[in-house]
Amino acid sequence: MSIEVRGVNKSFGAFKALDNISLDFPDGELVALLGPSGCGKTTLLRVIAGLERADSGQVLLDGEDATDRDVRQRQVGFVFQHYALFKHMTVFENIAFGLRVRPRRTRPSEKDIRAKVSRLLDLVQLGWVADRFPTQLSGGQRQRIALARALAVEPRVLLLDEPFGALDAKVRKELRRWLRQLHDELHISSIFVTHDQEEALEVSDKVILINKGRVEQFGTPWQIYNEPASAFAYGFIGAVNEFRGRVEGDFVRVGDDLLSLAGAKFQNGQDVVAFVRPHETEIVPDIGGGHGITAKVHRILGNGPVTRVELVANGESRKGETDFFEVEIPGTQLASLGIATGQRVKLTSRRISIFDQQNGNERP
Ligand code: ATP
Repeated sequence: MSIEVRGVNKSFGAFKALDNISLDFPDGELVALLGPSGCGKTTLLRVIAGLERADSGQVLLDGEDATDRDVRQRQVGFVFQHYALFKHMTVFENIAFGLRVRPRRTRPSEKDIRAKVSRLLDLVQLGWVADRFPTQLSGGQRQRIALARALAVEPRVLLLDEPFGALDAKVRKELRRWLRQLHDELHISSIFVTHDQEEALEVSDKVILINKGRVEQFGTPWQIYNEPASAFAYGFIGAVNEFRGRVEGDFVRVGDDLLSLAGAKFQNGQDVVAFVRPHETEIVPDIGGGHGITAKVHRILGNGPVTRVELVANGESRKGETDFFEVEIPGTQLASLGIATGQRVKLTSRRISIFDQQNGNERP
């Protein structure tokens, strides 16, 4: 089912939680809503579900205005961070619940309910815990059961709010992979709230990056990582080196250093921020002259395929600038670069993204 959000606004008192949000969620895709804590992800999910009423704007499901429809009419399935399984019911009965409470007219027969629950248990690969109670399951197992229960009523949309948020890192990772596989089998339109960028980029077909109640960027995980549309997007996604300075001709002056604008068009004197990913940052020995940011090698980490070089800004800390930089180079290159701890180097890059410091989203 396609989901469309048009001009949705939502305030709590004087606080604007959603600021004129318009989005098209493609049919059958798994979309992540990603953003920092308090940015409005859950509020948007609740508005789509019909659990929260927007102050203005519309939610369209399959092209039909659903703004006045309640949760049940919208046929939405939910999975929350804290497993809302019924403690006094077995796993089997938890999954069957949504079917058993249907009005007699639409309620499946006992035989059909049993068959369906068994199928769902197979789908979440937990047939062997059918007779257990929720307290006898691990956190990861409970979330898989919560998902089976949400799917039992054949929702048209599946909404997941930090479903793996309470689990440890290893289980989270396993469940991510599992959710992706499950989605590939079912193709049910799903929206997945997370503040974990790795989770969003790994699991979803599309990512919606939200900041302060607004959409910063909507794109594929590749676009979100490789083509961040704003300074916020750059800083939020992945590790990044950040250099703040002022435009001087074809360069950005960062303290005493000059960094090439790399063809970006900005006005002289404009305050800008330049971003470079660690694996796209190049280190060259500082032999005086030339462009680049001077820094001192602080630590060299890792003996594997990738070496991480930590650096500190040379000289005084410059106001508003990151003092630590990070560079990733193939381990095989380390020897030929001849870099050692304490050495003065220059950092440059052929891939620099520069944004206006004020509005954060003006690209060249
Ligand atoms: P998190 O990742 O921390 O769950 P989130 O992005 O999901 O954050 P929301 O839960 O959507 O954020 O909340 C957005 C903002 O709206 C927050 O500042 C929150 O305090 C506020 N907010 C949410 N619900 C209410 C409410 N019922 N009453 C007042 N303020 C609320």
